Amino acid sequence: KLDGRGTYRFFEPEMDARMQARRKLELDMRQALARREFQLHYQPQLHLESDRITGCEALIRWRHPERGMISPLDFIPLAEEIGLIVPIGEWVIRQACRDAMTWPAHMSVAVNVSPAQFKSDRLVEMIISALATSGLPARRLEVEITEGVLLQQNERTLQTLHRLRELGVRVSMDDFGTGYSSLSYLQSFPFDKIKIDRSFVKDLATKPDGEAIIRAVAGLGKSLGMTTVAEGVETPEQLQRIRLEGCTDVQGYLISKPIAADDLSAFLMTYPLPN
Ligand code: C2E
Ligand code: MG
Ligand code: MG
Ligand code: MG
Repeated sequence: KLDGRGTYRFFEPEMDARMQARRKLELDMRQALARREFQLHYQPQLHLESDRITGCEALIRWRHPERGMISPLDFIPLAEEIGLIVPIGEWVIRQACRDAMTWPAHMSVAVNVSPAQFKSDRLVEMIISALATSGLPARRLEVEITEGVLLQQNERTLQTLHRLRELGVRVSMDDFGTGYSSLSYLQSFPFDKIKIDRSFVKDLATKPDGEAIIRAVAGLGKSLGMTTVAEGVETPEQLQRIRLEGCTDVQGYLISKPIAADDLSAFLMTYPLPN
């Protein structure tokens, strides 16, 4: 009654619980950066021809004080919605550049960048600053975008991507093949790398002609001069297939799960070093 006319309240208890959980997560997330609760894990990428680890993808984790480790799938969408992805994304890029400086010099680091980060005009300047502060050469930084970034076909987004590329930063199309018009996005910008979504790698074993898509994308990458990475490789059989179909790199649990920054050097010792 106190709410007055024209307003109403939810009395559906389930809905109320969901909204409260969401609000709590939001409040916690607003504190998480200052409380240093975020961490980066790194998943290695294997270059097939040389059999070397040529880089790692940075994947964020949130060590929540009550809930333990939270997957990015469970908080990145909310962070995007409420704009927190901008400061969180900045932390990711700066931390990833710092960490990569401790790796062998031939290795690069890939970061995932959300559409909302492209809407802020500070992205390029922030990346220049992260490179300068860490000392990481631009060519060792890679930016992964999904079709969400190109969906609006905004002139400024393309300009931002071109500016990054002029700096020497590499740009990858992530989750390729899952969007509405992956092919037309490939035409709109000269990507350095195509990451084939792991659903297609799964299809290798489960669908007749499952390898047709992988083969086609590997061929496409070759003709466009782009590296092609198969994501989510879990079995030796998948790896063998992918090799045959001509992808240049693989990433997946078979090579390694994402590993905590401190444990990466031990993992790298198990792989041959570059000449
Ligand atoms: P993504 O960029 O496509 O990253 C690959 C995801 O696949 C990671 O999940 C990785 O752990 C998982 N993966 C890798 N190999 C395998 C495999 O062999 N099998 C299976 N089943 N999964 C595999 P993760 O770490 O949970 O991240 C999920 C998504 O969250 C990422 O998808 C990315 O879109 C987003 N994300 C992660 N970190 C960040 C970040 O720092 N910023 C932003 N904006 N998004 C991020
Ligand atoms: Mg990615
Ligand atoms: Mg992906
Ligand atoms: Mg993804």
